[in-house]
Amino acid sequence: MNTQPVLLKPAFKDYLWGGTRLRTEYGKECSLDRIAESWELSAHKDGQSVIASGPHTGKLFSEYIDACGREILGSRGKAFDSFPILIKFIDAKGNLSVQVHPDDSYALSHEGEYGKTEVWYVLAADEGASLYYGTCCEVTAEEFRRRISENTVTEVLNRIEAKPGDVFFIQPGTIHAIGAGLLICEIQQNSNTTYRVYDYDRRGADGKPRELHIDKALDVAKLTPSPSADSSGSVTVHEGYTSRLIAKCKYFTTERLDIDGCAKLNADVQTFRSAIVTDGSAVLTMGDTELSLNAGDSVFIPAQDKGFKICGTCGILLSYV
Ligand SMILES: [Zn+2]
Repeated sequence: MNTQPVLLKPAFKDYLWGGTRLRTEYGKECSLDRIAESWELSAHKDGQSVIASGPHTGKLFSEYIDACGREILGSRGKAFDSFPILIKFIDAKGNLSVQVHPDDSYALSHEGEYGKTEVWYVLAADEGASLYYGTCCEVTAEEFRRRISENTVTEVLNRIEAKPGDVFFIQPGTIHAIGAGLLICEIQQNSNTTYRVYDYDRRGADGKPRELHIDKALDVAKLTPSPSADSSGSVTVHEGYTSRLIAKCKYFTTERLDIDGCAKLNADVQTFRSAIVTDGSAVLTMGDTELSLNAGDSVFIPAQDKGFKICGTCGILLSYV
């Protein structure tokens, strides 16, 4: 079994609300003018990451898993019939549509894929940038539907100003939208099922409004205020780094690591690990593999009984099952 950690290159999406910060700030190489999203850890058919170091360089992420064997996902990772998570950077130059995602049971019966639980870690925020998280108050389905048609639905949403380091945990059924001026890392279930409820009356590249999915959205949306969005825990100090749990659900656990020095970290046979570098630079060493890491990089670490270390000054989002 090949157990080296590998660098990944993302798949890109040029949705109409995207900007250019993933190129200018994270050095993403992409021929698209606009980069709305980069899918940094993805085995999803709509956009796969590609292996960018080691003997499997050039393979799609799913081809790499097939070549190495599902053992690299660990016992918890391979218990899912498809790869459980998808991690993206999102550069919202404009507002994203107001949307909602179904849970597993609704998505499996209506869309043939899993539902979507997601967490946002805010990397950068323009002055006053905000997002919508749930409704502000109890709203009936009739009122919600009427407000969509009258372009006033955002008046009943819970608007929150965001700043770097903020965490938002989005349960299925929570109406949400990322607002203009936010740069976000999103860790989510491996699903691309989105029900768009409102798109600010915008037109797509073809001059037509983008499709809305109001009936399905109202089937799954919770129209009562959601509990607090912040799922993060307290900071723990270790030698060379601090850690903070930012999300934990049955699909993934994510920790924020702030490294200044050398962080000795464990791998294990229960789960693979994903390290996303959000800022700074460092070197990851595991056995005789050494990877130099810069802001924006994505590393996949196969499940195994071995330690690794990350030395440098950087912020990491470390996710596992
Ligand atoms: Zn979403």
